[in-house]
Amino acid sequence: MEKAIRNSKTVLSFILVVITIIIWYVVFYFESRQNLLVTFFDVGQGDSIFIEVPGGNQILIDGGPDDSVLAKLGKRMPFWDRSLDLVILTHPEKDHVSGLLEVLRRYDVDKILWTGVEHSIAEFEEWKKLLEKEDAEIFYAQRGGVINFGKGAEMVILWPDEDFRGKTVSELNETGVVAKLEYGQNSFLFTGDIGRSTEYRLLSESLSSKFFVLSSDVLKVGHHGSKYSSSDAFLRAVLPEINVIQSGRKNRYGHPASETLDRLAAAGAAILRNDTDGDIVIESNGWIFWRK
Ligand SMILES: [Zn+2]
Repeated sequence: MEKAIRNSKTVLSFILVVITIIIWYVVFYFESRQNLLVTFFDVGQGDSIFIEVPGGNQILIDGGPDDSVLAKLGKRMPFWDRSLDLVILTHPEKDHVSGLLEVLRRYDVDKILWTGVEHSIAEFEEWKKLLEKEDAEIFYAQRGGVINFGKGAEMVILWPDEDFRGKTVSELNETGVVAKLEYGQNSFLFTGDIGRSTEYRLLSESLSSKFFVLSSDVLKVGHHGSKYSSSDAFLRAVLPEINVIQSGRKNRYGHPASETLDRLAAAGAAILRNDTDGDIVIESNGWIFWRK
């Protein structure tokens, strides 16, 4: 009898210790979320960027070429959290949309932002089916849109400049969502796979509109470092301190191109690459930013 009481006391204290550990874990988790965190996932040849905004909003831009994004999210998100506040699909090419399919199947997504452009691959058909199933609010990206995340963080949509809903296009890359995330004094520019022609159009907009400020501290280099993106003129306008290239090890496209690396190096900013640096995390307190 006495032994049974002793045993139940041991079990009870064990449970109390576990509960205390969980409570402190939750407290530290939320306390540590005062800063903005932008993680460029190493998902091979494709884009996937996870943004944690002060106050708790979680945003995923693109999902990479396969479901490796799931393990990446699992590392960054606490085990009890199975929801995302916003998913952005820049454009429905395989290396951007594929990982999002599994994300939509496994996570509860509150809002989805994309362009509505058509594509003919199987992954796109699946994307559309999942959009219908997911009980998310759908938004269509268009220049001038602003998403306010609270606590001083907001995202401005710079591209596309037209409504692509239901449209079939020949240059899918040039329809992609370009978004600028601002937090206090710091800013991040996400450019999807846009090429020079869109860069030039963004540049000419920036010359004629006050709303359109391209300069950013961190640039997600366009199109995995392809030679057809990151023109000198565009780099001079963005003037980043850090360039991040999302390309896979030994990818068959030869990304990033040596010409692009030369142009980025000539512009003088740091170059970080998922294929050589793995996951890249940049943290900002609204005044300064640093690599974690
Ligand atoms: Zn791509």
